[in-house]
Amino acid sequence: MSSKTALVTGASRGIGRGIAIELARTGARVAINYAGNAEAAAEALALVKAAGGDGFIVQGDVAVAADRERLVVETVAKFGRIDLLVNNAGVAPKVRADLLDAGEESFDRLFAINLKGPFFLSQLVAKQMLSQERDREGFRGRLVNITSISVYTASINRGDYCMVKAGLAMMTKLFADRLANDGINVYEIRPGVIATDMTGGVKEKYDKLIITDERGITPIRRWGQPEDIGRAVRAIAEDRFPFSTGACFDVDGGFHLHRL
Ligand code: NAP
Repeated sequence: MSSKTALVTGASRGIGRGIAIELARTGARVAINYAGNAEAAAEALALVKAAGGDGFIVQGDVAVAADRERLVVETVAKFGRIDLLVNNAGVAPKVRADLLDAGEESFDRLFAINLKGPFFLSQLVAKQMLSQERDREGFRGRLVNITSISVYTASINRGDYCMVKAGLAMMTKLFADRLANDGINVYEIRPGVIATDMTGGVKEKYDKLIITDERGITPIRRWGQPEDIGRAVRAIAEDRFPFSTGACFDVDGGFHLHRL
């Protein structure tokens, strides 16, 4: 990866930051996107450099078309190409509302950031990749979408989140099929419960469900860490799965297992 460039959305904090650091450990160059927290983005860049990579910060709201275009233009201007796009930026609903009371504003916000943004950014980046030479392995690039166990787990107090993540899983299959012959593999990474700001407000609930309860919701009895997701993305970036596309990796402590 030393000469390769990754664009990671939402890389200022949490899972995105973990991905950026793990990629940096391979010597990659990372475009660190963030929406509003410039201080966190600066910290992420310092950590990327300390881990042996290079990078730069690019502000932009993935829900906004002009911002998406700028992310691509600035990354290519800086590093010449994009080898890996990680659609990681995402938000949870501000209020957990019962399915029967859930509002349109929250639906529109989640749809725009968690699904529309990744879709149109993938379009732009795929076109950029198609203009690039193939690498030694025959790749022009790779796309990774960070979904969630919410793809298949019904949470009736955040149905909007579940629905858009399910859409992102389908988006992975669509791009995988469309781009397979063009040297672009596409993957879904499906995290379980990961310790980040997003889950900070429900820490006690998940401490109990994962660790304290007699039989935890995950066979592996610990919280996931951003690094767990970072290591999975790194394996993709290092071309460990050249004959897989449209594949989904459960990085969830075994949450997805049906247990009796
Ligand atoms: P987080 O700690 O809240 O961090 C969110 C990141 O996304 C921040 O870097 C934030 O930037 C950025 N962001 C938010 N809205 C954005 C926008 N409109 N445009 C560009 N960047 C934006 O969240 P996280 O827990 O790391 O979650 C990352 C991804 O993993 C999300 O897609 C989430 O749905 C998914 N996920 C999380 C968990 C979990 O348990 N944490 C589980 C499954 C899936 P700023 O710093 O500028 O705000």
